[in-house]
Amino acid sequence: MNSDKPTHDVRAGRLTEEKIATNFADMHPPLTPSEAIIDADRCYFCYDAPCTTACPTGIDIPGFIQKIRSGNLKGSAHTILSENIMGGMCARVCPTEVLCEEACVRTTHEDRPVRIGMLQRYATDPILENNTPLFERAPATGCKVAVVGGGPAGLSCAHRLAMLGHAVTVFEPREKSGGLNEYGIAAYKTPDDFAAREVDYILGIGGIEVRHGVSLGKELTLADLRAQYDAVFLGFGLTGVNGLGMDDEQLDGVANAVDYIAMLRQTADKAALPVARRVVVIGGGMTAIDIAVQSKALGSDEVTMVYRRGQEDMNASGYEQEFAQTRGVSLRLWSRPRKLLVDAGRLRAIEFETTRATANGQLEGTGETYVLGADVVFKAIGQKVLWEGLGDTAQILDLKQDRILVDDERRTSLPGVWAGGDCVYGGEDLTVSAVQDGKLAAFSIDRFLKDKSSRSA
Ligand SMILES: Cc1cc2nc3c(=O)[nH]c(=O)nc-3n(C[C@H](O)[C@H](O)[C@H](O)COP(=O)(O)OP(=O)(O)OC[C@H]3O[C@@H](n4cnc5c(N)ncnc54)[C@H](O)[C@@H]3O)c2cc1C
Ligand code: SF4
Repeated sequence: MNSDKPTHDVRAGRLTEEKIATNFADMHPPLTPSEAIIDADRCYFCYDAPCTTACPTGIDIPGFIQKIRSGNLKGSAHTILSENIMGGMCARVCPTEVLCEEACVRTTHEDRPVRIGMLQRYATDPILENNTPLFERAPATGCKVAVVGGGPAGLSCAHRLAMLGHAVTVFEPREKSGGLNEYGIAAYKTPDDFAAREVDYILGIGGIEVRHGVSLGKELTLADLRAQYDAVFLGFGLTGVNGLGMDDEQLDGVANAVDYIAMLRQTADKAALPVARRVVVIGGGMTAIDIAVQSKALGSDEVTMVYRRGQEDMNASGYEQEFAQTRGVSLRLWSRPRKLLVDAGRLRAIEFETTRATANGQLEGTGETYVLGADVVFKAIGQKVLWEGLGDTAQILDLKQDRILVDDERRTSLPGVWAGGDCVYGGEDLTVSAVQDGKLAAFSIDRFLKDKSSRSA
């Protein structure tokens, strides 16, 4: 029950270290060799594999599964990683239920797909564990490319460019590379420092220098980069969060879900994190699910996710919604926040108004309200690019709905500048899509550079 008692109950140590370790254990423990063979045997090896079409990076899924069957794990990993260098992370974080596994023919026949994500992990884990090099660099081309942002889009682009023989410099403001793989993805999806190990593997190819503590908009401008490098790739992700549009959002007790998640991901001793007894999460996407489930895993008593429309309208997949509910998260639908209720300068509750859809699908308030007591309210209603932190970038690039407009090759409106990942318009805001953007941009940059050098020869 969610009570409206002003207790301001936020503290560390709600659960024992053992309990927290259990709650944050690997969400999908790896397959054993016999489980992998049984699952691989379920694949029909379809000629026009719909799973491959549904994978944003176009991995030859029947091909890698066939290699698992024949015991060629290294070859299987090569098939995966040659299309998606973050195949290890994607095996853990892809919403496969709406991507490759949704398209699996077994889903139609038996309501149970081949576990493609798990098989992908089975094939790629040994490669990363043993740091087995699978790719080599082409002879050096003498061309230099700047990559802005060391997240999935930037690292995927950098790796492919390095393979093609170009020299890459990645500019990354944070202490660690990996972007949201390191600072955002739920901790139970990527335990044991997997994100950092994957970054090391990617950089192991050579030819990529990462400069930490350097940002576009502070130490660098786009004009500097264009003058100093032969091509530029922008992969700075989403740098700000959407507000609720309410008074008092700076109030003690109101927080951005992504900031708390970043802190959680960087804290080794999770029992030491301050955790609220009553948590209210506003939003209906992956971030909302992640903060809700992780609050529960840290020991919050009451966690309620509140979404303004119906369950089918939520960005989080049905699987994720069910996952949150089985982890003890309550869901309140058709409600929007109206007022933060304050006690001694600190949040004590939040008032919601119930909503409904009008005949033309617009959202309207019903006038009915209710109150949820809350020690913390997490905002998880989406992220955006904070252009004011990026210098004059927004003025010199074409944007659409506040994101960078790119073509099929991920070229921006500015010659010599490419972009990909969450910062571009029309993407899926998924790790796998960011990896694909980086790869496509790298191929396009390579064509551009070769064309340029053949014209000047
Ligand atoms: C909480 C959360 C959970 C998620 N869970 C999943 C999931 O389970 N599965 C999934 O597929 N997707 C998930 N996503 C989405 C996924 O993480 C992103 O789509 C993906 O990380 C986008 O990659 P990117 O490289 O475009 O951006 P990012 O990962 O954000 O990386 C951008 C990089 O650019 C750097 N940067 C920022 N500003 C500058 C600057 N001015 N100059 C230079 N560098 C800069 C950043 O520090 C960062 O390293 C989640 C997102 C969030 C927020
Ligand atoms: S990268 Fe993701 S979508 Fe593609 S095959 Fe692997 S798990 Fe499926």
